[in-house]
Amino acid sequence: MTLQQTIAQYLEYTGHKGFDIHAALIDCDGVLYDSMKLHTQAWVKLMKKNGIKCTRDEFYELEGMTGSEIIKMKFKTGAGKNITDDEAHALYGVKNRYFRELGEAPVMPGAKRVLEVLKEADVDRVLVTGSQQDTILERIEKDFPGLFGDVKVTGHDVRKGKPNPEPYLKAMAKAERKSNQCIVIENAPLGVQAAHAAGCFTIGVTTGPIPEKDLLKAGADLVYKNMDELAAALPSLLVALTVIKA
Ligand code: CA
Repeated sequence: MTLQQTIAQYLEYTGHKGFDIHAALIDCDGVLYDSMKLHTQAWVKLMKKNGIKCTRDEFYELEGMTGSEIIKMKFKTGAGKNITDDEAHALYGVKNRYFRELGEAPVMPGAKRVLEVLKEADVDRVLVTGSQQDTILERIEKDFPGLFGDVKVTGHDVRKGKPNPEPYLKAMAKAERKSNQCIVIENAPLGVQAAHAAGCFTIGVTTGPIPEKDLLKAGADLVYKNMDELAAALPSLLVALTVIKA
């Protein structure tokens, strides 16, 4: 499919007349940081310690759900246990400790360039993450100085994790933008589903083991191999979206 056809398809299924792109809603893990290897490792450690069989691949599939949602589901299906909110909160704390013990996740190659291209094009950068880890939020200030504004959505703001559209709807409300004024950058199928359900033009990046076809199936309008490839394509993509005025 050509870019023009992709754009035409988006306009058809959303019913929008065109675009007026002002904001990029940007996921964190697997987009800004190459952190999913460490997250999946920490998840498997937590499950094994609790006698629940699992593989790392499962946690790539579940990426985007809140920590509590993942814990409640895995303990139910894997051990027949109903976990309370307080127990889930405590177990999530343990998982985050395991994650921190694995060391700092590297910045995703190309991520900074993507943010710079957006800034140059006067498109606001809005962080949308389910993470409640204040350490990651502090790191963003240090690793991407001046590239994010004050508007952001974190795990502290949302009740329902992805694939529920709540995180993206909340980001749009906070940024005071409509769906045809935003693009979303996501790496995980559930994250793509959430963005697609919120009505935004959704860009997937295959930075982990999940193949392109899974992101397209989840509703991604476009998929790039990685953030470097997106950074290279982004200027012409933004122009292509700008010429079709809402
Ligand atoms: Ca992600």
